[in-house]
Amino acid sequence: MSAERRCPQQLTWADFPKRKEADGWRCRKCRVLLTGRRTSWCSRQCEREVLLVVHWRYIRICILRRDKFRCQTPLESGGVCGQMAREVDHIVELADGGSFSDWVNLRSTCKECHKKKTAKSRMARAAAKKIPTISPNPVFTNMRCLMAAKTIQVTFNSLKVGAYFTIKGERFKKFSALTYESLDNAILGETYSTPGLLVDVVAPVNPTKAVVSKAVKKTVKKTAKR
Ligand SMILES: [Zn+2]
Ligand SMILES: [Zn+2]
Repeated sequence: MSAERRCPQQLTWADFPKRKEADGWRCRKCRVLLTGRRTSWCSRQCEREVLLVVHWRYIRICILRRDKFRCQTPLESGGVCGQMAREVDHIVELADGGSFSDWVNLRSTCKECHKKKTAKSRMARAAAKKIPTISPNPVFTNMRCLMAAKTIQVTFNSLKVGAYFTIKGERFKKFSALTYESLDNAILGETYSTPGLLVDVVAPVNPTKAVVSKAVKKTVKKTAKR
């Protein structure tokens, strides 16, 4: 009866082992001392509670009944699909850490909606995984400079909007005069800069040949003199 684990967050029968202690058998769910010839469950209630977290076929039929075998996938135009449903869908997918057995995360679905939704989630995951590729800092587009590039520290204010920089290895892009966005951790979104915040940028060895904004040029010169 051992169910295969579909995801790390799923419990299986093995998580509720039979247990015999000195005084006798214990309920696999609540550990109450069992009487008579029982060796697994103290009650139908305990058995059902475990079925509801480990046994997909049981969970599935419960959800289909709850939804009266109608597809509950929401439509863009409002309402739900309502087609005959024979499958049950994890709203937040298991691969995204969604609960395996929580009824809130489960809904009946027709084959067509299920297919569409799975493909959509898969694409969203792939997009989330893809780290944006960093293009050369537009402030330093001169090829010779890039070839002889090194990292220097400048203040955030001296960067042009759209410039790339790093702070402790994390990559950012200047979004506006005040804000910047992370390229490595898109969830964080934009952050407000603090005046004079020091950031790392790729800098040319010979700053005079670089295509830089006046402000950066000044900073780079100062840094180079040091
Ligand atoms: Zn029990
Ligand atoms: Zn549907």
